[in-house]
Amino acid sequence: MLKGKGVSNGIGFGNIVILKKVERKIEKKTIESAQVENELERLHEALREVIDETEIQMKHISGTEADIMQAYLMILQDPSLISETENAIKNSHYNAEYAVEVGFNSVIQIFENMDDAYMASRSRDILDIKNRVLGKLLKEETIDLSNLKPNTIIVATELTTSETAKLDFKNVSGIITEMGGENSHTSIMARTHTIPAITKVEEATKLFKDGDSVAINGTSGEIYVNPTEEEKQKLLTLEKQLEEEKTELEKYRDKESITKDGTKVKLYANIGLPSDAEIALKNTAEGVGLLRSEFLYMDSDTMPTEEDQFEAYKQVAEIMKDKEAIIRTLDIGGDKDLKYLNLEKEANPFLGYRAIRLCLDNPKIFKIQLRAILRASAFGKLAIMFPMISSIEELRAAKQVLEECKKELDNENVSYDKNIQVGIMIEIPSAALIADKLAQECDFFSIGTNDLIQYTVAVERGNEKISKLYTKYHPAVIKLIKQAIDGAHLSNITCGMCGEAAGDPLYIPLLIGLGLDEFSMNSNNILRARRTINNLDKEICKKLSEEILQMASAEEVEKRLREFVNN
Ligand code: PEP
Ligand code: MG
Repeated sequence: MLKGKGVSNGIGFGNIVILKKVERKIEKKTIESAQVENELERLHEALREVIDETEIQMKHISGTEADIMQAYLMILQDPSLISETENAIKNSHYNAEYAVEVGFNSVIQIFENMDDAYMASRSRDILDIKNRVLGKLLKEETIDLSNLKPNTIIVATELTTSETAKLDFKNVSGIITEMGGENSHTSIMARTHTIPAITKVEEATKLFKDGDSVAINGTSGEIYVNPTEEEKQKLLTLEKQLEEEKTELEKYRDKESITKDGTKVKLYANIGLPSDAEIALKNTAEGVGLLRSEFLYMDSDTMPTEEDQFEAYKQVAEIMKDKEAIIRTLDIGGDKDLKYLNLEKEANPFLGYRAIRLCLDNPKIFKIQLRAILRASAFGKLAIMFPMISSIEELRAAKQVLEECKKELDNENVSYDKNIQVGIMIEIPSAALIADKLAQECDFFSIGTNDLIQYTVAVERGNEKISKLYTKYHPAVIKLIKQAIDGAHLSNITCGMCGEAAGDPLYIPLLIGLGLDEFSMNSNNILRARRTINNLDKEICKKLSEEILQMASAEEVEKRLREFVNN
């Protein structure tokens, strides 16, 4: 048995698929005239392989995905696209790889410059095809993450967030990685999709072979290769227990989120992709407290257009209907990169050019997103949330850009929700400390404990070496949470929390005591959180929080909360 760190609960049985990283290098070579035919043949063989692959994929899909694949086939067979590449071989005597680079790029540029938004966004499909053709020419062994065999257990050094976003979740039974922490975005996404995940498995990509049969326990971090009958039975028993708890939690499906003494709170869901809103509703979310819009950007090889984003946010608004959905504006930087932005490497990315800082510095990018959210707000109950606010100036500057977008839409006679709520994340200590001032200039707060903890105790959120120091129980973190909630209430605005701490049954009594109004969490934690809240007494929780606010040590806080929950 192997052991790693369980980061997403559940039992998974399946076969290993190892994700190998390939560094792609396109060399520019000049070929002899005699080689032209050979290079043309290589090009056509690569195109044929991609066409064959696409045709096979099409047999297994339907709806929009199938439409996209159909469009791929048309592009691949379009003589005008291919002739650019052929000419680069015939006339410029480039090797096939470089010819694909040149030929496809010129067509991509033509599409990008088209006025029609739909046609412009097709450039992304051509880019995708280019990458696949190059993969064939370079004989790269690539795995199509969006099209996996049933019961796949993915093994990787580390899954990037964009790789995770592409995963064919219905066929993934588990994820095993060498690196990545509990609060990495990959772990968070695995939890949203209830996929068991284990990280910190040293040399995992070398330990296993493709096709190995394994069973994993995402709670304990245990991995069994070729599990014995006895091991299988043990895991099946655990799986049954998890199922039983799930059934017991079903009782809370139609209950209100209210304490025994009548304090109502909101139980919201955190989502990554627009379609996750369906998962949220299935789990009885009363709203979406955080749509991490960066997933939309990371799921793409080029910047999503206003039209792309409008469609995505509209989808959320329409799924959620009259329930609120808070769209957080782009939070890129830190551990989330966007290759096409060509951001410079920084020594301290979490303290660097990130989120609202990047947006305010690139108003063009920011405006595209704000216009898209505003337009989508006509179709439901959307709210806007700015991430990583550290000062009142940043909040004012962000609101100013939003006002400009509203004016533009007014001039264009485009409708949007004129009363759209505007809030901010409280995830930097400086914001928590001036919460009373910030509250006077926005409509709501949402505390981001994932970042607030790292900035308060100076411990990077994904750094395993020092992960023991990364604790939500630190009294300083709790004081900042209190300050944010009190600051919000002074101006009669609501204070929520969308960091992972909001869904922790051990922490919820403290948050109820401090007066938190809205708890936003992974969808699959909602019923459990409702059960916790239904069994709490606000007045008792208030006393508990007062007692905890006097404590000096994180250990003491954690011990007291465990004691409270166990009694
Ligand atoms: C947070 O920091 O708590 C948060 C919710 O934002 P993210 O995890 O996306 O940084
Ligand atoms: Mg954050």
